Amino acid sequence: MKKLELHWKILIGMFLGVVLGLIASAAGFRGFVIDWIKPFGTIFINLLKLIAIPLIIASLIKGVSDLKDISKLSKMGGRTVIIYLITTVCAVLLGLLLVNVISPGSSITEETRQELLDGYSGDASSKIEIAAAQKGKGPLQPLVDLVPGNIFNAMTDNTNMLQVIFFVIFFGIGLILIEPAKAKPVKDFVDALNEVVLKMIDVIMLGAPYGVFALLAALVVESPSWDLFQALLWYAITVLIGLGTLIVIFYPTLAKIFAGFSYKRFFSGIAPAQLVAFSTSSSAATLPVTMERVHEHMGVSEEVSSFVLPIGATVNMDGTSLYQGVAAVFIAQAFGIDLSLSAQLSIVVTATLASIGSAAVPSAGMIMLVIVLGAIGVPEAGLALIFAVDRPLDMVRTVTNVTGDATVSLMVAKSLGELGEPHVRNVDDFYKKEQE
Ligand code: ASP
Repeated sequence: MKKLELHWKILIGMFLGVVLGLIASAAGFRGFVIDWIKPFGTIFINLLKLIAIPLIIASLIKGVSDLKDISKLSKMGGRTVIIYLITTVCAVLLGLLLVNVISPGSSITEETRQELLDGYSGDASSKIEIAAAQKGKGPLQPLVDLVPGNIFNAMTDNTNMLQVIFFVIFFGIGLILIEPAKAKPVKDFVDALNEVVLKMIDVIMLGAPYGVFALLAALVVESPSWDLFQALLWYAITVLIGLGTLIVIFYPTLAKIFAGFSYKRFFSGIAPAQLVAFSTSSSAATLPVTMERVHEHMGVSEEVSSFVLPIGATVNMDGTSLYQGVAAVFIAQAFGIDLSLSAQLSIVVTATLASIGSAAVPSAGMIMLVIVLGAIGVPEAGLALIFAVDRPLDMVRTVTNVTGDATVSLMVAKSLGELGEPHVRNVDDFYKKEQE
């Protein structure tokens, strides 16, 4: 019998997780799921996070130093940044179009609004505080934050990914600039390190179906009541239509036009990363899987995938920017605030910047939403309105973010002649070997 492909196994894991969560909620053994099942989900996320920094270091140094000359690096960098920006702006515009047409905020009654505001104001104010700390910094602070004062400090925290990327690209450039004979031992070491890290990811992915099972079971038992979901149904539907359009139409079309990928090839390549993104709500945690899929299963050269994807995971968040656009207008609508055209335009700018600034971790998009709200003069307490449904939307926007990164890597690779045949060093191969 043909062995089940990884994405099917993950899907089955997710399904069973939801079933267990529902049964546990109904039968009153939530505590069991939280104490005995959830930890395995946490371990899975930790394993992925654990591998993220070594992966960026090994694969990006290898990628950059394989380039041989700096002009190729700058060409790749330029294209990556421009395409990332264009897709993000398209996403916000789509979000604004949908939220203006569907107008989900107008259907919120005064009573529900008050209930939501009361229920979640505590949670919202902690997010507002975090955002305020970010806002208090000068305009060039993001640039300053890019350059770490100490690389070991930067590497101790997964949220400093951009600093690590900065150091690693700089190191790779140094490696290109010295004599090849002198660079060789370092390159050989990094190449071998890269192989080891990729193998570790293969091993971690064997546990993915069980990891997502645990994550979803815990999510279901911990989610708020259905009543609140219902009040926010139209808002959630608006965000989901937008995200769905990006995932199902926008990206596959770009992949088709610019990289010649059929619908099926595109999705069978990226599906496992999408499922992990959905279960973890973190582009950073998903990064190892995205890199493995794009390089080994979709044929993007390692030079391109190791450059475009880590940067994308931290700065390119189309799903987040779309969501921020919709959420900002929804909250304004719910408060009865009429947004002028210029306010909507400033949403395009601030949501683009805020999505770039959002960390690739759960709920980050919601924290940065505070900045978008501030820019258009909508009360930040409105965050409390959308709290109840944020987690499921976060899951889908993370899928969107990851799919966007993968698509851009296909486009950049194709434009540089770096898109080849996939060379699967598949988890299943590993699995077969284990069984022999
Ligand atoms: N969780 C998202 C991500 O990691 C960011 C967000 O909250 O929108 O991509």
